[in-house]
Amino acid sequence: MKWINHQIVTGFIVSTATDDAIFTASAIAGAVLPDKVEGSPPKENKAYWKWRKSHRTWSHYPLIYIALIAAAQFSKTLIPDSYFLIPTLITYALIGALLHIAEDGICGKVPIFTPSKKYGIKLFKVGSRSEYFFAALIILICLFARFGDIDSLLNLLNF
Ligand SMILES: [Zn+2]
Repeated sequence: MKWINHQIVTGFIVSTATDDAIFTASAIAGAVLPDKVEGSPPKENKAYWKWRKSHRTWSHYPLIYIALIAAAQFSKTLIPDSYFLIPTLITYALIGALLHIAEDGICGKVPIFTPSKKYGIKLFKVGSRSEYFFAALIILICLFARFGDIDSLLNLLNF
């Protein structure tokens, strides 16, 4: 999935679930994290294939992000109440990263149990029209979940 669609889909899901702009912004920032930690693909052919081989392995291993969420939550027991927002924002950024992995899992393969063995279902090709259709579908589902019934949704969209 393209970064812009990762950010849009993740943003709508977290916004619908939390109704909070700051948590949503954090999740959107985290929505590209698993790709960012890999760095950009090298231009040189041999280096590219070496990079490609480890693409979507450790960087897309969900257990790392789950452990970091647990650590962020645990840190709340050690810090004063006034700093609670920081671990919460980190948690939402990591949730954004987990959603990124799930989104990659429907257009390719990602690790689940171990970093090297990957699973996934290829619903569409990255950057294809189907990807944008999928993103639009998620947006509609989120809007429907948020506004409840089809009439208020159509009203909102000015139909
Ligand atoms: Zn990715």
